[in-house]
Amino acid sequence: MTARLDYLDAYQTHFVAQVRALRTWRNQPAVVLDQTCFYPTSGGQLHDTGKLGGVNVVDVVVEQGVVLHILAASPPFVVGDVVEGAIDWARRYDHMQQHSGQHLLSQLIYQRYGYETVSVHFGREEATLDLDAAAIDPARLEETEQAANELAYYALEIRAYFVDDRTAAELPLRRSPAVTGQIRIVEIDGFDYSACGGTHVRTTAEIAPIKVLRQERRRDQTRLTFLCGLRATQDYRAKHRLLMESAALFSTDPASVPALTQRLQAQVRDLQRENALLQEQVLAHEIDALLAAAPRVQGAALVEYLCERPADVLKQMATLLRARPQTIGLLVSTAGDKLTVIFCRSDDLTWHVGNLLHDALAAFGGRGGGRPEYAQGGGVTPAVAADLLAYARTQLRQSANAS
Ligand SMILES: [Zn+2]
Repeated sequence: MTARLDYLDAYQTHFVAQVRALRTWRNQPAVVLDQTCFYPTSGGQLHDTGKLGGVNVVDVVVEQGVVLHILAASPPFVVGDVVEGAIDWARRYDHMQQHSGQHLLSQLIYQRYGYETVSVHFGREEATLDLDAAAIDPARLEETEQAANELAYYALEIRAYFVDDRTAAELPLRRSPAVTGQIRIVEIDGFDYSACGGTHVRTTAEIAPIKVLRQERRRDQTRLTFLCGLRATQDYRAKHRLLMESAALFSTDPASVPALTQRLQAQVRDLQRENALLQEQVLAHEIDALLAAAPRVQGAALVEYLCERPADVLKQMATLLRARPQTIGLLVSTAGDKLTVIFCRSDDLTWHVGNLLHDALAAFGGRGGGRPEYAQGGGVTPAVAADLLAYARTQLRQSANAS
């Protein structure tokens, strides 16, 4: 067993201890001490980091009451040595603020709405608590957040102490403890009693500000993501800056940003619609020009078109061409460094452009095919575009001459 100094005083950052054993943990050196301030990952709270005998502690785990300090490098000390340890206080204090804030929020939600906290997690950036409720009314959530911040201003004392099971059974614990024997209680001054091994701040004043970021449904539970203390302050600073930057882009005040964004979105939609209409008109003129210059095959206009325009423009051209009587279109685009081939014809003709496309692509190692009046394919290098068109033209003329 490792004596846990963090249980007695969460604010102790430096300590001396005797090395009890040197081990390995997942191929990294690990140290067992007689006592430690290092909190091992447990109960949803992340481990501490810091230094032990001058070596970085990168992870801390607990195995059957023994705390393993996992080191970044081989230790310069041996079993029996007395070493100095120091935890990274900023990281620890951040964890203390999040964890204490969770106790406060969980009790408030339980008292007000009867929802129990079923699990918690304190991540590197955000903390979460899962409630046995499908959803929480957003207005209720705001009230809870407000109440939590007001309770923080009361600076309620937060105490941690051990009791036996019998005493624990008489306490109004939010959840029944997962351990038996000596049970560690974390109490927020008569307001909340939790069986918890985590590290906590001394008063609720150190938790503020408390900000619930969002709720999301997870099966029949609700996950609340929240920030406390300095994390919440940093988040506020970052979001405030973002909003001010957005407002500056619009040369307006922050409150006008959502309405202005909406107006701009509507304008963009209108412009896109107008642009599509114009493009259609331009294409119609281009089709007229192509048709006027097109050679004839058995009286039908044969439009050959090689371009670098996107495939959807090619499709649009095919649609417009098909609407003209006695028209065949052989359209090829090399946009995006690949070949798109579309063959089409008007309904008053009998050529099978699907077969024509299949044969033409097959001649150059590609694949494709389609209906008698419309077909699309690709899969060959753009370098053969002109040859492929010539091949298809020849095939068409031969079939015309044969009939
Ligand atoms: Zn806890």
